[in-house]
Amino acid sequence: MPSKEELFKLIPQVDRLMQNEVITDCNIYRHEVASAVRDTLGELRDEIKTSKIDSIPADDVLAQRAVDLAMKRAQYDRDVRRIINATGVILHSNLGRACLSKAAAEAVVEAASSYCTLEYNVEKGERGSRTGGVEKYLSDVTGCEASLIVNNNAAAVLLILSALASDGSVVVSRGELVEIGGGFRVPDIMEQCGCELNEVGTTNKTRIEDYENAISDKTRAILKVHSSNFKIVGFTEAVNIEKLATLSRKHDIPLIEDIGSGALIDVQRYGLNDEPLAKESLKNGADIVSFSGDKLLGGLQCGIIIGNKKLVDTMKKHPLYRAFRVDKITIAALEATLRLYGDPRMAEKEIPVLSMLSASETELEFRAEKLCGKIYAKGGAAEVIKTQSVAGGGAVPGLELNSFAVSPKSKESTDGVEKRLRGLPVPIISRIEDDRVLLDIRTIIDDDFDYIAESLAQISREPQ
Ligand SMILES: *Cc1c(COP(=O)(O)O)cnc(C)c1O
Repeated sequence: MPSKEELFKLIPQVDRLMQNEVITDCNIYRHEVASAVRDTLGELRDEIKTSKIDSIPADDVLAQRAVDLAMKRAQYDRDVRRIINATGVILHSNLGRACLSKAAAEAVVEAASSYCTLEYNVEKGERGSRTGGVEKYLSDVTGCEASLIVNNNAAAVLLILSALASDGSVVVSRGELVEIGGGFRVPDIMEQCGCELNEVGTTNKTRIEDYENAISDKTRAILKVHSSNFKIVGFTEAVNIEKLATLSRKHDIPLIEDIGSGALIDVQRYGLNDEPLAKESLKNGADIVSFSGDKLLGGLQCGIIIGNKKLVDTMKKHPLYRAFRVDKITIAALEATLRLYGDPRMAEKEIPVLSMLSASETELEFRAEKLCGKIYAKGGAAEVIKTQSVAGGGAVPGLELNSFAVSPKSKESTDGVEKRLRGLPVPIISRIEDDRVLLDIRTIIDDDFDYIAESLAQISREPQ
């Protein structure tokens, strides 16, 4: 048997392995394979040191080990990668909020990987409008006179107030001085824009007289903010947009509404009763309405401002607009998404946020049973459990939608199973309820069933 010293001498050089065919033929970045080769040889040294081996494997074997290691790392090492959302939270801000429709995803790939007509008019052969398509569809869907797209809804509010009210004050109800996740606080935004915050009413009750009494020469706007992520119950009173519109017209000051989630079609039939419709807000008298592009609308992150043309034009001329403007990918995604809204039935079918929201209990139960069947077919065990999903993403607080979940049966602890699901090559994010791991079927897509079934079956078969 060779001594340890002799074995050490037999370890191949990194350069020699890098020239091995297994490595030259593999489809991985050279620097990543080189790092895997060094680590594979390091392990080999440890194995010699601890007397685990008494011969050196062939170069091909070592090269293959390095390639496997590099492939595994390539799969796990990208910071932003695909996961399976089994939390049942449709708009999960930590998981990237909305998923795009197929049409929008295709538009994104096309715009990203080629030159495009971003600001070019092919008919005239000259410079064209950057957001012409988006503006047309927004006007079709909401009836708006003009529109503007910025980086997100927080930027939209900042731009609106900076352009329209920086030299004066803005009247807001105390009950609407909200903080939306991630440090978006209405009072701070006001300060940033250089406008004075004129808070009226109390936390739970604000009346039209409160607004009326607050209006002065300095008032530049009335702002209404949708309380997206909380609910005040009990003795409450707020002033609706119609009444505020009458008041704002009387004093000739703009009425601005931040509706948050930006529902473009009626979502009441899914049980979302408190979500203002963009179209309704305009119809009821708001001069300017802002909302997110990646909440209920179902597009990429952006902020949408719609309303009065003169006011929108003022914002377009403001330097912040240039700083907040969106790229070709966002525009391509938004245009393709908005186009689907031309036919609400198609929107409901094709836009994942809407299809997940609209899924019936019968359909969800059927799909949960189907996934469960696949798990048994692969030798695992699981049960179907009735549960509740939430819309999430700062939309519709407290609202729960009846749903169904698949719960894997395993000898392992629930924490252990939940963690193992997160550690998979494509992580599955589940939730624990009543000491059970639940995979809510509402946010899972059918294309992932086989992968989930195989992973869960393995967990049942091989508890750790
Ligand atoms: C979500 C939300 C925002 C922030 O929107 P982003 O697009 O995330 O910047 C602002 N206002 C309201 C009412 C919201 O619900």
